[in-house]
Amino acid sequence: MCGIIGYVGNKEIVPVLLEGLRCLEYRGYDSTGIAVHKGSALNIIKSVGKLANLEEVINKTPGLLNGKNGNNGSPKSIYCGIGHTRWATHGEPSDLNAHPHFDSDEAIAVVHNGIIRNYQEVKAILLRQGVRFLTETDTEVIVQSIANNFKSTKSILNAIFKSINELEGSYALAILFKDQPNKIYAVRKEAPLVIGVGNNENYLASDSSTVSQFVEKVIRLNDNEVAEISKESIEVYNLKGEKLNKDIQAVIKSKDILDKRGFKHYLAKEINEQADVVSSLLRDFLPNHEKQIQFEHLKLTTDFLKNIDRILILACGTAYHSGLVGKYIFENLTSIPTEVQFASEYLNSKALLTNKSLVIGISQSGETADTLAALKKAISYGATLVGITNKSDSALAELAKEHLLISKAGTEVSVAATKTFLAQMTVLYLLAIYIAESTGSSKQKKISLLKQELKLIPQLIDQTLTRAEHYQEHVIKYANRADFVFIGRGINYPIALEAALKLKELSYIHASGYASGEMKHGPIAVLDPTVPVVSIIVPGETYDRVFQNSLEAKSRQAPMIAVAVDGDKKAESIFDTVLRIPPIMELISPFLTVIPLQFLAYYIAEHLGRDVDQPRNLAKSVTVE
Ligand code: GLU
Repeated sequence: MCGIIGYVGNKEIVPVLLEGLRCLEYRGYDSTGIAVHKGSALNIIKSVGKLANLEEVINKTPGLLNGKNGNNGSPKSIYCGIGHTRWATHGEPSDLNAHPHFDSDEAIAVVHNGIIRNYQEVKAILLRQGVRFLTETDTEVIVQSIANNFKSTKSILNAIFKSINELEGSYALAILFKDQPNKIYAVRKEAPLVIGVGNNENYLASDSSTVSQFVEKVIRLNDNEVAEISKESIEVYNLKGEKLNKDIQAVIKSKDILDKRGFKHYLAKEINEQADVVSSLLRDFLPNHEKQIQFEHLKLTTDFLKNIDRILILACGTAYHSGLVGKYIFENLTSIPTEVQFASEYLNSKALLTNKSLVIGISQSGETADTLAALKKAISYGATLVGITNKSDSALAELAKEHLLISKAGTEVSVAATKTFLAQMTVLYLLAIYIAESTGSSKQKKISLLKQELKLIPQLIDQTLTRAEHYQEHVIKYANRADFVFIGRGINYPIALEAALKLKELSYIHASGYASGEMKHGPIAVLDPTVPVVSIIVPGETYDRVFQNSLEAKSRQAPMIAVAVDGDKKAESIFDTVLRIPPIMELISPFLTVIPLQFLAYYIAEHLGRDVDQPRNLAKSVTVE
């Protein structure tokens, strides 16, 4: 969600900012903009829509590319600027609401990631003082507040400190002041921001994978820290104005982040990486299925594990669905009562956690604001947090510190999650087995069979991926439908939810996922010959009941699609279309059943000409609550 980039150094500013914005595109956005120092003024250019629109406007604005800070534009000139990809929270996506925003005197320019919760109150005060507002954004109160405080404090830093004290919410800011042509000011409060430390040049960005394209070292800002960044120095202050000694860390290089490796979309590439992702996690944590899983780095004592009273999994979106699969496995192997909640809902619930409770927080980006807020609440009851994230340098990684599982899926560029879903599931299976083994579960036979079967998963995923064309051929004919229903039972119920979510995200077709037994309690009313029903039907405990529920749907003339294993002849008797997967044990079947459904969403979206990698309205890293 939203991206911030900043640069100060000797490089021509606009190409650097555009390159930074390109790296941030994957986070999801609806408009873009940049601010640079030009002579003795600040120059802002912004545009609604894709980055290409901004580039077009820039190309029509001769002179900006030669922007220089009152010096002669020679290689030694210092260039300084900030850029932004916006994901609108306050005010429609438009040229006007796009960032950066000016104060009334056009002396300060701000880009902002996050929200200002009390913006109406602050705005009312400023309006009474005669300040005029031009945009609908909450961000404009930040820049007007800083300008206002600058009038009284006459100090940039004090004005920023004062504004931070007045503004409630979560925000990362990059700020330019007209009178400080060679400096960027940065603020972090519950939204990601890192400084890239270069040689006689410095960067600022919302994530370290962006700065890793330019530099080898980073300074990570913590909440409530303010940085003053020039070409050769970086000063970081706390809110008392005290200078801090910050660690300079090596940046984790994200290899080939912007390489589609021959695939048409990142999404297709990432779906196709799933066998490797699962395989590498199994190699690391389950090298030998005859041995116990080793998660020493989790630092959970056997005493704690033996006495866990309850497991609560908190997550959002696709990560919530992996949590639902996790619940099934935890309860199956450990008998510990396990619950999964939307992180945003947990904030409103009465928690019953104790210091014997285990809370598992799952977030691909590790920056999901809802999840972080919920986890902080859970920890406050004394629960122990295990974090599962794909980003080892994220806020969740920091929060979970000693009890952290990195899902190691590699950077996922496409906004819709695919490979990180399988990675999260893998980690949850391994964690459940680890807890079961560490506490001497009585289900040893089941566990050892499960471990053996898990080792075969990468190969089975590979086989499933080779069927992409078969899936494409079979699903395209449904692309013109306005509604879809997905059904599954037991461990494949979360896959029905995930499949519906993926189709909605990518194609904008309305879709719902249901526990197949629930159909008759209401949703069946929507069925008619125009609404395809997709059943996930795998041999095992749930097969007969899912079959029965599918018959009920067929009786309402719904077009019937199944995800079924090779050789399942019975499926052919009622389904119009059968998406085949290799035979698999039900308990691990989500690793395969989800794949044809990812392809279903992908191929339908592609057929409809959707922006597959950056669907409308969506953000990769959801940093607002
Ligand atoms: N709340 C701000 C806006 O709506 C910033 C959103 C963002 O993080 O991109 O403009």
